[in-house]
Amino acid sequence: MADREGFPLCDACAERQGDRREFSPGLGNDCFVCRGLTSRFPEIERSVVRRAKGYQFKTFSIGVIVPKGIQEREDQLRSDLKIRGKEPIKSQLGRGISDFVKAQTRRKVDRLHPDITILVDLDREAILVTAKSLFVYGRYTKPPGVSQRRELCERCRGRGCGECQSGYRKGVSVEGILEDRLGKILHSAKAKFTWLGSEDPESTVFPPGRPFIAEVKDPRRREVPSRMTARTGMGAMKVGELKVLRGKPTAIPSFTFTTRVFIKPEGPIGALPRGLAKAVKNAPIQFRNNKGKTVYKRVYSLKIQKRGQSLVAEIRLDGGLPVKRLVSGGSVSLSLSELCGTPLNCQRFDILRVWESGKFEF
Ligand SMILES: [Zn+2]
Ligand SMILES: [Zn+2]
Repeated sequence: MADREGFPLCDACAERQGDRREFSPGLGNDCFVCRGLTSRFPEIERSVVRRAKGYQFKTFSIGVIVPKGIQEREDQLRSDLKIRGKEPIKSQLGRGISDFVKAQTRRKVDRLHPDITILVDLDREAILVTAKSLFVYGRYTKPPGVSQRRELCERCRGRGCGECQSGYRKGVSVEGILEDRLGKILHSAKAKFTWLGSEDPESTVFPPGRPFIAEVKDPRRREVPSRMTARTGMGAMKVGELKVLRGKPTAIPSFTFTTRVFIKPEGPIGALPRGLAKAVKNAPIQFRNNKGKTVYKRVYSLKIQKRGQSLVAEIRLDGGLPVKRLVSGGSVSLSLSELCGTPLNCQRFDILRVWESGKFEF
């Protein structure tokens, strides 16, 4: 049977075998198992803290990849000596780094959902820090001429080319502005948006604005101001009620909204039929959505007035019901065209208010 003196070990490696006696001392590179790695622990711990301090966080977790060969040599030693040993070097190092980071930053370890995950890859001599996505809620208002979403560059279809750099068409959008502003505040390069409904580029969205949720990826900061204003070149875009949600929402509220619609009849129009508001309120509105599925929605109130040869309507309706088609018909029924008995076209609609019904679930 092999004997312990045949395995020179450093103190840290001897300690992991459960009983440090009897091993001959192996300083630095002479250690059979780590070949000097444990002597670098303090230096590694300091680099990890330096990197962690680039992030705002309350909780963290540490992962360690040890250089090839170390675990194999330790396994060989344990099987040759027929000892079970204690923890693997990976856990020893991970715990050491965790304790040091805790002491230096006064932050806590959370293995399941940490704000930042620090991977200490000693095989490739790299420290990789990734921050958990931050989910930010807010409401935006916007002037006409600003589209809600960024559109893909027509030349490269989003791959990124010499003309667009980013893969997106140049031009202002709520999405582009928000990603840029949130990116600067939270030190993040990427965000993904969920909108509670949408409007046209030509629509004005009035205060308090349309709700959205931004998933901000790999942020170095985790706090947002409660509001901000951005210039668009076409008027101010304001963002209010900004806040960080406590996690990734598994369900978002449904909503209703009030819109003001400017309508152009196709021909001359006489007096409006009586009881329009009542008729539309009591009827489920049926339409085919983008996926070709038939969906029923509701209109909650309708005020409609003649203004010269045009009509102006104020409608409160369910989220997801397409305003333009509600006016003109065409896969929406009842439509205002049907109700008024004459073909109508929606020229423009503005968003007066979006009402959330229901709650976020996490
Ligand atoms: Zn060692
Ligand atoms: Zn392009």
